[in-house]
Amino acid sequence: MEQLTITQFVRKNILELQPYISFRDHNEFEAPVLMDANESPFGTFNRYPDSTQKKLKRKIADLKNLSPGQIVVGNGSDELIDLIIKIFCEPKKDAIMMMNPSFAMYAFYAAINENKVIKVDLDENFEMVKENFLKMSEENQPKIFFLCSPNNPTGNSVDDIEFYLQNFNGIVVVDEAYIEFSDKKSSLELLIKYPNLIVLQTFSKAWGKAGARVGIACATEEIIKLINTVKAPYNVNSLSQELIIKSIDQLDEFQENVENILIERDWLESELRQMECVSKIFPTDANFFLVKFNNVDQVYQKLLEEEVLTNKRSPAIPDCIRINIGTREENKSLIAVLNKLKS
Ligand SMILES: *Cc1c(COP(=O)(O)O)cnc(C)c1O
Repeated sequence: MEQLTITQFVRKNILELQPYISFRDHNEFEAPVLMDANESPFGTFNRYPDSTQKKLKRKIADLKNLSPGQIVVGNGSDELIDLIIKIFCEPKKDAIMMMNPSFAMYAFYAAINENKVIKVDLDENFEMVKENFLKMSEENQPKIFFLCSPNNPTGNSVDDIEFYLQNFNGIVVVDEAYIEFSDKKSSLELLIKYPNLIVLQTFSKAWGKAGARVGIACATEEIIKLINTVKAPYNVNSLSQELIIKSIDQLDEFQENVENILIERDWLESELRQMECVSKIFPTDANFFLVKFNNVDQVYQKLLEEEVLTNKRSPAIPDCIRINIGTREENKSLIAVLNKLKS
């Protein structure tokens, strides 16, 4: 494929859009008197957050071995999915493509703009079928391909990601919401090679900060500038920015938690293997299992009665429930309910 130019995929009105610039955030001051933003001079958190998220981006850049110009921070990666679709897909006209089954939010945000959603069915092991991908992208010319790896709700990773980057005439978004639980390589290292790549990561899963709503998109500076242009200037609040900076400073705690979840993942798997009601546990690189049950409706109902909340994927994925790893105590509660079913 010839060298891709990114602007050919961008909506014309977005290319012409002037970003909202907070003058204060784009200039250096020593001890400014702030009378420019109609804020209250009193109290704490009385000031707008840094719209450029300078300190936070510097932290993330150091952590990920990137430059701050390759990063944009969002109100969760959900916001970034929404913005990416807005930048590249003309409403009512363009299409996105995604794996099936995969994360529901790609189709959700596409539907809001009446963008068509092309779904590439995975095979019985939830692997991509390359011929189908090639055929469907040729036929439908989608602007964006959302590739979720490790995939939610199946848990497995996508092999040979470079194939999709090389063979897609548009933007490839690799959603790495669960990458910290996987021993597979992140696609961040492919950023220097592929100008059409956007990598999404989040602080909601392995970092344990779902309540803060912070996610990142990493890409070329050209794409990051476009996302900065369309994002709400104050999209990430000051409390969340501070909290994430602090979490990155406490890297040990993060690593401990991830290791603990991986230990629990092994424990839960070995317990589930012994259950009569379990017919299959799909391999996972994430903090959850997709589990196939012999009597899925009965199992799900029983769990619900006992207030153990799980994520039923049946009938879309026949007989399956998605269950995420909890503490040992929580995992034991799950197993105890499943044990009751036997009798
Ligand atoms: C949980 C999840 C996200 C999440 O997002 P935030 O908005 O950052 O909380 C993104 N992608 C996938 C596949 C997820 O499962």
